[in-house]
Amino acid sequence: MSLIRVHDKYFEPYLSEAEIQERIRQIAARIDEDYAGKKPLFIAILNGSFMFSADLFKYLTIEAEICFIKLASYKGTKSTGQVVTAIGLDIDITGRDVIILEDIIDTGKTISQFLPQLTNQQPRSLKIAILLHKPEATVFPVQIDYCCFSIPNKFVVGYGLDYDGLGRNIKELYRLKEN
Ligand code: 5GP
Ligand code: MG
Repeated sequence: MSLIRVHDKYFEPYLSEAEIQERIRQIAARIDEDYAGKKPLFIAILNGSFMFSADLFKYLTIEAEICFIKLASYKGTKSTGQVVTAIGLDIDITGRDVIILEDIIDTGKTISQFLPQLTNQQPRSLKIAILLHKPEATVFPVQIDYCCFSIPNKFVVGYGLDYDGLGRNIKELYRLKEN
């Protein structure tokens, strides 16, 4: 792997396809154990989590359901970005064992604004599984139950994550190259 260019920026290799897949297998095995006999409902947050969600879901061997929602955060000229639901939840989660699937927790704003919508419906349990966490950037802390990789506070692209719409189809993760 070498440098790639997405739009105007250069990115360097960060996590290989094999590393990513191996770690997702481990997390899937833990979820298999923790949810044996429970038939959990996964809620994947589009767009960024589509690849992670598909791979994790394929590695599971327990009975499980999955559905998708889309959150969009509109950042105005002011610093307070607001998270709105662009595609909502079409399934009743009352009494269900729910696991949220998200690509990355950065500031934690997206997930922490969305959580009350779910807890309001009184699921039996609610856990969060993510591909990436940037602990240094997190200002809205939430409990993360399954995390594949904790990473430094650098912009990453690939494996479902985009830079201005592009880069999602890359099988590995790349990070922004500092000059
Ligand atoms: P948060 O609300 O936790 O600050 O941000 C979460 C969202 O910001 C993610 O779902 C993702 O869309 C975007 N994001 C945060 N950090 C990165 C990054 O390093 N790369 C990419 N491509 N998106 C990011
Ligand atoms: Mg996202």
